[in-house]
Amino acid sequence: MKRNLEYIIGLETHVQLNTKSKLFCSCKNVASLKEEPLPNTYVCETCLGMPGSKPVVNEKVIEYALKVALALNCKINKDFFFSRKVYFYPDLAKNYQITQYEIPVGYDGYVVVNGKKIRIKRVHIEEDPAKIVHKKDYTLVDYNRSGVPLLEIVTEPDISSAEEARAYLFKLKQILEYIGVYDASTLAVFKSDANISIKGMERVEVKNITGLKEVEIALKYEMLRQKQQVLQGRNVARETRRWDETAKVTRAMRTKEEEEDYGYILDGDLPAVKVDYNFLKELSSKLPELPDEKLQRFVKQYGLKEKTAESLISEREIADLFELAVKEGISVKEAATWIGRVIKKILNYHATSYKASGFKDEWVIETIKAYESKKYSDATTEQILRKMFEDSLPLKELVKKYGFKEMVSSDDALKAIALEVIEENKKAVQDYRTGNEKALDFLVGKIMAKTKGSADPKKARDVLKEVLK
Ligand code: ZN
Ligand code: MN
Repeated sequence: MKRNLEYIIGLETHVQLNTKSKLFCSCKNVASLKEEPLPNTYVCETCLGMPGSKPVVNEKVIEYALKVALALNCKINKDFFFSRKVYFYPDLAKNYQITQYEIPVGYDGYVVVNGKKIRIKRVHIEEDPAKIVHKKDYTLVDYNRSGVPLLEIVTEPDISSAEEARAYLFKLKQILEYIGVYDASTLAVFKSDANISIKGMERVEVKNITGLKEVEIALKYEMLRQKQQVLQGRNVARETRRWDETAKVTRAMRTKEEEEDYGYILDGDLPAVKVDYNFLKELSSKLPELPDEKLQRFVKQYGLKEKTAESLISEREIADLFELAVKEGISVKEAATWIGRVIKKILNYHATSYKASGFKDEWVIETIKAYESKKYSDATTEQILRKMFEDSLPLKELVKKYGFKEMVSSDDALKAIALEVIEENKKAVQDYRTGNEKALDFLVGKIMAKTKGSADPKKARDVLKEVLK
């Protein structure tokens, strides 16, 4: 029995775009909000599918889709149209979903993940159906989500492990955030369906996996399930399964239907879209620097280690903060340490982004400058930044609130404390004078204790040596 099985994985990711309004009507796009609104409050005759209502395409969505296709190195279809995917379900008021089938906005692209090219098969626009809420004895439908603009981004089956799937999604999300079409700090959802097979076997589709970490967990589960089937001498059945996020298992839903089984028909209510060449050229020239380019530039321009640069470019706002700090005169080394390490550590701990946090560029820069001018010690500076995150207050207010101690750095102040310490620790002084260097460490420790850690230890040592000469 062959035990080293080869896995083949492809992902279909649905991303809710952060446009102000929905895809085919002027209702507010609920995915761009920060808090869940009351059910069925952002609806109109179009997104409720009432007879006689007509969809009008939101041009911003087309612009966003084109930007994404460009950023994912896709070829662009300059003529495309919308189709109706016809099926019955209560989340679909019109009995069809408006989507793109025959001709997507973008195709044949790629994303580089850890040096490997993951090919992008297609990028297309579609509308989100309503949300179904199952209660114990009944089911509710919330049409707020009906007509929210989605991009579906489909990879070729180029992914070979659960970790790689997660890394791909991380990269995809990062690119979407960089170009500003998706905002993780809103209600916008980032959801994937995965096609997984063992080489030579049928493939299984796992539906509805939200987020990045969850994809890794779901894939690991499903790969193991398929492997066990094969090891037991059975064939993996072709089917659609659902990811149960609570139980952390995939469950059988239905035997797989083919995409062709849906009755796709052209949507006659919507005109074909023609992309103007000059508009596309302008969009392309206005795309911001993307993560891969930024990483390379940071390594080259600032002489950073790749790992440090990676941390700094993880979020566009963090990269911008770093560059602003350096521009304002903070050394590359300190800017990289405080922003790439300390701030990132605080954000990771709270599982949030810089953008969504209470930090402000000028507050952070002011704090690092104060550190650089030796006003605050390492430990104090880190505490200040923690409190800055928690309270969302500038340095001055934090100092007032928590009484952060400035480093005792003036020579006179340090000398006075050194003299006190010498007076109180005659034995250690004696030891030092008779050649015991370690006694000096002890005395430095006493100075640090007296100043509650706010003295510069190196300076304290120099002052002590001077006084004891
Ligand atoms: Zn509407
Ligand atoms: Mn879809």
